[in-house]
Amino acid sequence: MLFSISSFFSKNRIKYYLLIIFLTLSSITTASCSLQQKSSSDESKSQSNVVATFLPMYFFTKGIVGSSQQIDILIPPGSEVHDYQATPQNASILAEADVLVKNGLGLEEFLEDLINNVGNSQLKKIDASQGIETIDIEHEEEHEEDHKHEHEHEEDHHHHESGDPHVWLDPVLAQEQIKNIRDGLIKAYPGQESIYNSNAEQYLAQLQQLDTKFRQRLAPVKGCKFITFHDAFFYLAQRYNLQQMAVVDIPEAGISPRDIQRVSKAVKEFQVKAIFTEPGMDDKRIQQIAQDFNLSIKALDPITSGNTEPDYYFQIMEQNLVSLETACK
Ligand SMILES: [Zn+2]
Repeated sequence: MLFSISSFFSKNRIKYYLLIIFLTLSSITTASCSLQQKSSSDESKSQSNVVATFLPMYFFTKGIVGSSQQIDILIPPGSEVHDYQATPQNASILAEADVLVKNGLGLEEFLEDLINNVGNSQLKKIDASQGIETIDIEHEEEHEEDHKHEHEHEEDHHHHESGDPHVWLDPVLAQEQIKNIRDGLIKAYPGQESIYNSNAEQYLAQLQQLDTKFRQRLAPVKGCKFITFHDAFFYLAQRYNLQQMAVVDIPEAGISPRDIQRVSKAVKEFQVKAIFTEPGMDDKRIQQIAQDFNLSIKALDPITSGNTEPDYYFQIMEQNLVSLETACK
């Protein structure tokens, strides 16, 4: 089922909502399972209560704790992260938790209020982006054009005061996140230090391999300019000498005719090579533009939806790599 999520989404909105409900229900089931497990093995220190805010933080945290610990996810995979609204269920999970792992950089806007409301004074918070040098896209000269658009579009654009939060999509910055999470977990559970260290080492090695692959395979398409509809791939683009032009931020209400004009204007102006949509986004007008200008159109996945298999992050990053290298050719 999960491999066909993107076509599934685009075919039918109602099905999409049903899927979200299903995912929400299954995360509730998972949460109650973990509570059961916890109470049946209270002796074991390793059955702790760790909560990650959204899917990428879940993968990174799970990669470090391994199979010994259960991790809950606050934002059900497939939900919009940027303007997520906390639920009563989130509050009860957080009230019981020892450790919370967040991406930080203003991505999880709902968290501050939620934490204040829950009042769990024992909760240890891990900011995975601590110490990471971020980019404020607005200061990039190449993105001057985006800057103008951003102001016209102010209301529906997700704006982050602390810099671009999409750190997890860069295999190099993801390694910094792993280190931050590892160090935070060791502080919270000193007894698990050697397990966390060796798991983290493996995960870091896997991310290094991923980085090498991206570096090698994207070298031939250096300088490729591409259009996205969610400015999530700036770090990735910069890392591998590509250029993301985030011309239109996907508005809640769908793409307007003005957005369409903007895209075709950018295509002409910037000698764009490719257009990238996201899973779940299927707009005939965008496909028409790609056809008219003879551009590749592929999907880039920000990994905020999908399944919780430990390897899923790497599977999707590999798919993103294939999309980039084939579209930019
Ligand atoms: Zn985003």
